Formats: sequence, structure tokens, C-alpha cells
Amino acid sequence: MTRTKLYIVLLFLSISAFGCAALMQLNMFPVDKDIELGKQFDGEIRSNVKEYPILKNRPEIRAYITNIGNKILASPDIAYRNQFAYQFEVIDDDKTINAFCTPGGYVYIYTGLLKYLENEATLAGIIAHEIAHAERRHATNMITAQYGVQTVLEMASGHIGETGTQIAGVAAGLGFLKYSRTDEFEADAYSFLYLRSTEYYPGAICYFFQKSADGRQSSALETFFSTHPPASERLAKVNQMLADIGKPKPSEANLFTKRYQEFKKKLP
Ligand SMILES: [Zn+2]
Repeated sequence: MTRTKLYIVLLFLSISAFGCAALMQLNMFPVDKDIELGKQFDGEIRSNVKEYPILKNRPEIRAYITNIGNKILASPDIAYRNQFAYQFEVIDDDKTINAFCTPGGYVYIYTGLLKYLENEATLAGIIAHEIAHAERRHATNMITAQYGVQTVLEMASGHIGETGTQIAGVAAGLGFLKYSRTDEFEADAYSFLYLRSTEYYPGAICYFFQKSADGRQSSALETFFSTHPPASERLAKVNQMLADIGKPKPSEANLFTKRYQEFKKKLP
């Protein structure tokens, strides 16, 4: 290693030391790279209208989603509330039952998913799962693991750079990054944790798992199934978490089915 390279590595380590959570997770990205990368992803998504037709001129729909998101973001377990963008957008595509989140907190939800769900608490559980991917910095963990330290150094050197642009482009093409099983289960566990501080039934994501397990043949769920562990395994883990906290009861007071059905009528 040349003296210059060594200097760059030391400089980079000193930058990442400001984000101590990053060091503990062996995530070599400083947190502001999650923010920068998120902006890049968001730009790619917004400019790709064909793939991502963002729902326009329907502020009441976006406000409804943002309101749910903000309740989750008020959880004491959210670490990057003030650093990450945390914006919520709806993609007008009924043929896709999915949602995703970029690094740095840009959350996207397909109308296909909104129409598929039956109550507000389940949607809150899914939004919280997406927020957990951003909070736990799963995307930059994964980029560090897959693309190596050299890319991390390039991306840390002032701008995203060519490789970073490629990664953002590839990820935008896929809709989102494919995380490890461990990261997916962690996102479910954090979703559960976040929801416990809200008015929502923390196990409501189970209704989505149950329904999606029954609809395996649906092409609208194809991307979802190719990027997530089997619904049956996720269901078992959430049921265990519910048992651990004394099996709270789901009811209209924590599922908000009526409110959600009214909202669904407004969807295009
Ligand atoms: Zn996920």
C-alpha cells in the first residue's frame, strides 16, 4: 500500500468513526453516504417514469401514507429521523404488489399493494419494514459486502462516482436491492418494535403474509417472492414475537379496517 493510499484509508476510517453505528456493523459507509446514495436512487426512480409512474396530483393519498409513516418515525427506536429524508411516494401500478425503500429513507409503495391489503395496520407494518431497511442501513451493508472496499473508497471520495452510479442504476432497474434473509428478518423484527409504540397492532403484517402465501401463483407478487424469504417463515417469526409480548388481541381499534376501506375507495 502506498503512503497516499494508506492516507486515504485512514482519512476514510476517521470519517466513518463519526458514525459509530457504522463501525459496529462493519458498514464502511459513513451515514451521509446513505443519504447521498438515497438522493441518487430517488433521482433515478423519478426520472424513469415508464418503470416508476409516480402517482401525481393526488395529495390526499400521499398525505394518508405520509401520516402513517410519521407515526412510525415517532418511535423512540428510530435513529436517523433527523438525518434521513423520509419521504413517502405512491407508484401508480396495480400490477405490482410491493413496496421498497432506498438508503436514506425514500419509501415507495405500489397501488397494487395498497389495493391488496385489508387494513391500515398491515400497511403500517409494511411501511415500518421498509423504514427498518433504511434505519439498519441494509443497502450500504450489502454494497460493502458485494462490491468491496475499493468501491466504498471511490464512493466515499467526495461523490458517488461511476461505480456508484452503476449500482444506483442497477438497483433502480430492479426497483430495490435484494437483501439477505438475515436483513429481511431483522426488518420484520424492527417493524414489530416500531409498531409497538404506535396505535397499530404490531403483528398486522401477518395478514399480508397469510394472504400472499395463498396467492403464490399471482404474477403481481413475483418480485416480492423473489426478494423476500417465504411468507410462512416470516409469519412464524412474527407469531413468536407476539407470543413473547403476551399475544395482544387484534381488533378494529388497532387494525383500522373501516378507515382503510374508505381510503381504498379513493385510489385511482
Ligand atoms: Zn424487505
